[in-house]
Amino acid sequence: MEKGDLLYEGKGKRVYRTEDPEALILEFKDTATAFDGKKREELDEKGRINNRINAFLMDELAAAGIPVHHRRVVSDTESEVKALDMLPVEAVVRNVVAGSLARRLGLEEGTELDRPVFEFFYKSDELGDPMINQFHILAFGWASREEVDRMIELSFRVNDVLVPLFEAGGMRLVDYKLEFGRFRGGLVVGDELTPDGCRLWDLSTGEKLDKDRFRRDLGDVLEGYREIGRRLGVDL
Ligand code: 5GP
Repeated sequence: MEKGDLLYEGKGKRVYRTEDPEALILEFKDTATAFDGKKREELDEKGRINNRINAFLMDELAAAGIPVHHRRVVSDTESEVKALDMLPVEAVVRNVVAGSLARRLGLEEGTELDRPVFEFFYKSDELGDPMINQFHILAFGWASREEVDRMIELSFRVNDVLVPLFEAGGMRLVDYKLEFGRFRGGLVVGDELTPDGCRLWDLSTGEKLDKDRFRRDLGDVLEGYREIGRRLGVDL
């Protein structure tokens, strides 16, 4: 498949057109960013590791019947995906209190939640991705009521697949972010599923293996990512 024009460049990825209008190439960059791009570093190999982990997790979701945009890995750092019409929202699922939930409600990080929490955020770097709810989504026409319900349903189905998968590798899936887009009339999980967009803690020690190592200067970032890959059995 021929890689065409650069369609979009984000902080961690580039998106290219292909000769097929229904297919795009997603390139995972080595760049790590945090705090809306204010902290930034090049991490050799991050793109390759994230491409592998993303493909593995997306394939697991697809095998469980969850619609995903991932089609196949096409190079070390690139994958072919379905061309989605992305919704301007982020869906976050939390199993344990951490990050912005801990700050917002003054809770201790690591507190187990009796049941998973679902949150919507509006995708806007300038505004720092503010938290919103479904009334905002409907009022501003960002998605239909059916799409809102479907995002919530799919996000929890993703949780049901990923929690035991990570647990089998001795990891707690603390929280994660999903993005959705429209494809041939239905909603599909888009963007990426990598340690950049989820929190993963070692089940016994609580060691952070994900991007919080970068955000909070907790040590070798890529070693954490490699460890996640190894524990999942991903061929890195
Ligand atoms: P929090 O709201 O606590 O900052 O993030 C909750 C979860 O969603 C974390 O796993 C975090 O990595 C992920 N997340 C939220 N917003 C973003 C984002 O804009 N980019 C990425 N890569 N992950 C995000």
